[in-house]
Amino acid sequence: MTGGSQPIERLDRFMARANSVYYATHDPFADFATAPEISQVFGEILGLWAAVVWRALGSPSPVLLVEAGPGRGTLMADALRAIGRAAPDFGGALRLHLIEASPRLRALQAARLPVATWHEGLDTLPDGPLLLLANEFLDALPIRQFVWRAGRWMERHVGPDGFVEMPLAEAGGRLPGLLPGVPSDGTVLEHNAAALAFATALARRFAHVAGAALFLDYGPARRGFGDSLQAIAGGRPANPLAPAGSGDLTAHVDFQAVAEAAQAAGARVHGPVPQGPFLAALGLFQRTNRLARHLEPARASALMQAAQRLAEPDRMGRLFKALALSSPGGALLPGFEPG
Ligand code: SAH
Repeated sequence: MTGGSQPIERLDRFMARANSVYYATHDPFADFATAPEISQVFGEILGLWAAVVWRALGSPSPVLLVEAGPGRGTLMADALRAIGRAAPDFGGALRLHLIEASPRLRALQAARLPVATWHEGLDTLPDGPLLLLANEFLDALPIRQFVWRAGRWMERHVGPDGFVEMPLAEAGGRLPGLLPGVPSDGTVLEHNAAALAFATALARRFAHVAGAALFLDYGPARRGFGDSLQAIAGGRPANPLAPAGSGDLTAHVDFQAVAEAAQAAGARVHGPVPQGPFLAALGLFQRTNRLARHLEPARASALMQAAQRLAEPDRMGRLFKALALSSPGGALLPGFEPG
């Protein structure tokens, strides 16, 4: 504690607290549009992805269908509708489990997905075959940031007047993970321990139960230096260090680190691949066209534009990536085939 009213807090603890206040008090989807809120086809094709993977696993019944960070429940509602039409046997076998921290969002989800069971994390999920979907979940998990100063790493904390850099508390000032290059003064390095722990825990599960997990999120395919912490408040970029809970805090996902952690824990890793080609390979445009044929021109054109927004490289198609984890020895997964 300092003499001021606000303690100095390590960045990851500040971010965790800020987001739990934010998600408990705001409708995040008034502030930003996520893929399932942009087009219903997004959730539909992810539901069909899960159905295809379920069949490749030998159609286990029952099977857990899990979503991490379901937001308004839109992705899963769209997925279940598509599954009910195209793969009713999967629909009958699946048991819906949702990982959600926010009581406010749980209530929204319950209105659309009444048969689900809610969890705080992976630990309380029942054992057994598992398919997990997560869109823009890992980017909301808290990160630590390190800054290279005069030949050593300092760690960013948040104080009453902004960032405070403190010597690394770890033994010998060692950093978690490998460096992506040679730092210069002021270089920032991020570390998402919570995302890595989530991937590791899933990978350990896949060592003894059949399953696959699909993450869609934004971030580079290869690890690098740089500060990617950002806040959105009222639909606009905002100061990430504004009082906790006034904005939604996210950071780029380090897909390389997530992939390496999962692999080290024994999972098979697929991707990352850019979201645009991934969704296109799963039939985003075919499905969109088929739906659009039955709509009046204005709505048909809005649906087409939504698909383009998800897939075009200069919109969400390149920065967003798909990464999947599965049981070792399992088959290739749809959307991750080479070529
Ligand atoms: N997947 C949704 C929502 C993305 S926002 C969509 O694409 O629209 C992030 C979601 O993750 C919210 O539902 C938020 O409450 C949840 N979340 C964030 N941190 C979490 C944590 N530590 N544990 C569980 N859920 C979390």
